[in-house]
Amino acid sequence: MKKKDLLKTLKEYNFNPGKYLGQNFLIDENLLKFIVKTANPSENENILEIGPGFGALTRLLIESNANVTAIEYDRRVCDYLTKNISNSNFKLVEGDACRVNLDEIMGKTPFRSIANLPYSASTPFLGRVLEMNNPPKEMVFMLQKEMGMRISSSMGTKNYGSLSIRAQMLYDIKLVRKVPPQVFYPPPKVDSAILHFKLKDKQFDRNELTAINKVVRLAFAQRRKKMITAVSQHYDKDLILSALKDINKDENIRAERLSVAEFAHFALKISNKE
Ligand code: SAH
Repeated sequence: MKKKDLLKTLKEYNFNPGKYLGQNFLIDENLLKFIVKTANPSENENILEIGPGFGALTRLLIESNANVTAIEYDRRVCDYLTKNISNSNFKLVEGDACRVNLDEIMGKTPFRSIANLPYSASTPFLGRVLEMNNPPKEMVFMLQKEMGMRISSSMGTKNYGSLSIRAQMLYDIKLVRKVPPQVFYPPPKVDSAILHFKLKDKQFDRNELTAINKVVRLAFAQRRKKMITAVSQHYDKDLILSALKDINKDENIRAERLSVAEFAHFALKISNKE
């Protein structure tokens, strides 16, 4: 969407973009094209978009003849979309993307998710995605750069933490490019980044993931301390020691020194799920 068209629409709807809903609209046509090119949507595939806003990205996705389901929270934005986008391959769900039942909305067929995520909702939304029974096969998300770096960072870097591990348990993740504030109206205060997520071939089942995430959260609650201190308050010490031995780590190891695969083994073993 061009800036002048967006401004016209905002005026017509007497709409003041709200910060708490992360309402920063994309006005850079080149960047929009870049997102679509990266995602490369194909005819008839199912796509989930979060926070379509005034449809800058939505329209391009619809043009590629994909089936687009979009979840939008703001009632006035929903009014606009209902009036202005009436293609049969577009479905609008009015609601909070962090609260609606994503599995129910997307069903059991494979789908991908492509979105310029509202920054205020990206952490809880990603948390919900990671708990889905049928998670997206792939995702292309624009996020706050900081968050993008946390999600995609690997062991040994300062951004590596609970969120990186929980996301990378399911997905191979790449930071595709960084994006400056000027591509949005109004421009946010922070830089952004485009991330590409690809679902891994090997998937853990629901119980395994719940067990792993519990250990990960616990282990990182006191990131500067020995992992064993926090974890041994809730899990059997002998099992912990034997799990550490399996992955060749000593008792003094900190959580941030375990790779995603090592965490999986460690967590499943001490949860008796191995
Ligand atoms: N994708 C559009 C709009 C981005 S602004 C574009 O790129 O131009 C973010 C949009 O997300 C806004 O329309 C805002 O109302 C919506 N939004 C914010 N929080 C949301 C939530 N929890 N669930 C669904 N939509 C949300």
